[in-house]
Amino acid sequence: MLFLVRATLRPALLLTLALAATGVAATPRVAHHHHHHHHIHRPPADPQDALFDQFVKDFRVTALAAGISPTIYDHAMSGIQRNAHVEELTQAQPEFIKPVWNYLDSSASPRRVSDGQEELADHAATLASLEAKYGVPREILVSIWGNETNYGRDSGGFNIFEALATLAYDGARTDFGRRELLAALKMVQQENLNPRNLPSSWAGAFGQLQMIPSTFLKSAVDGDGDGKRDLWHSSADALASAAAELSADGWQRGHVWGIEVQLPATFAFEMADGDTLKPIDDWSKLGVRASDGTPLPANGEIASIYVPAGRRGPAFMAFSNFKVVLKYNNAVSYALAVCTLADLIVGRPGIMGSWPREELPLSRDERLAFQNALVRLGYSPGKIDGVLGHDVKAALRQYQRTRGIPADGFPTLGLLASMLTEVRQKGP
Ligand code: CA
Repeated sequence: MLFLVRATLRPALLLTLALAATGVAATPRVAHHHHHHHHIHRPPADPQDALFDQFVKDFRVTALAAGISPTIYDHAMSGIQRNAHVEELTQAQPEFIKPVWNYLDSSASPRRVSDGQEELADHAATLASLEAKYGVPREILVSIWGNETNYGRDSGGFNIFEALATLAYDGARTDFGRRELLAALKMVQQENLNPRNLPSSWAGAFGQLQMIPSTFLKSAVDGDGDGKRDLWHSSADALASAAAELSADGWQRGHVWGIEVQLPATFAFEMADGDTLKPIDDWSKLGVRASDGTPLPANGEIASIYVPAGRRGPAFMAFSNFKVVLKYNNAVSYALAVCTLADLIVGRPGIMGSWPREELPLSRDERLAFQNALVRLGYSPGKIDGVLGHDVKAALRQYQRTRGIPADGFPTLGLLASMLTEVRQKGP
């Protein structure tokens, strides 16, 4: 949370940013956050609280119409409050904010690997049967477990109804919040759970593999055969449910997630956006080679290429199983962490290429400036929210291409400085 209040601008950029700010509207997000830092001493008549209370009343009608009993709704929703911590965490997701190499350093650390190897041994029978039934490799399940909750050690301390209602009443995630809130109520009703005792993450994901309520309703299974689906206390239930979900999302039995590749010097980086799909043979004809010198797999897959840290970092050819991991949590850093940790747990080599660790991560203000500069220069980076996601990278690729820069879509301080110079030259 600290990062939201500290001054994060590097001095060299201050002047340029100040100039670039001309004509750039202050974003509502920033104003929003200043507001929330006063939540401890907020006045009793905070209009946000009134809005929240009204939402809880209004949503009761929606929930009852969807078959939720009034008793369950009132038990789950009485006494919950707008949670400012949830609102702040929506802006601070490490898989979007941290440089990918820092994210991987912690998510695939030597300790995480050795703990994973212990879990793999301790749950060998369960994992073998899940692998046979669903086709999802044991190391992928263990890796998701490690990435989501450090193998069940940290599964979140929010009240699921407070977290989801906070997302649902207002803000960027209202659709998600409302859908999952309703699903959580259905889950409580269907499974006869105590709604006051359901810890979750700030985003309403719960249990040892951090499943969201709608996924629970769709995929959760009883892995240990005790007749209950308890993703909080039973690791067998949690692992089985994740295996069922990955299988339902299209996991290809026997296929690898992807491989690290070398791109030719002339490679057109706009194709390395993760969205451009080609048969492996076509990539091969373009000069793409496996980093370890082995032939590219002949598994008939349609593949995409990712350069998560741009042209100076490692490149990966991803197959459909990588996309399945992205459905579990839609961040390339996350999917790469899951796949890399899985490889390391079973003794396969990790990532061989080196990361451009000298690139400093952009602060929140710099990320906002990045988005605003793209807008000023005529591109469409999507919502100005300080998160440099898919749309920003696509807009950045267009910017790079028209300036004759390899279009790797990787935002750097150097690119930000160039863009701000252009914005300044353009005038207000
Ligand atoms: Ca069970």
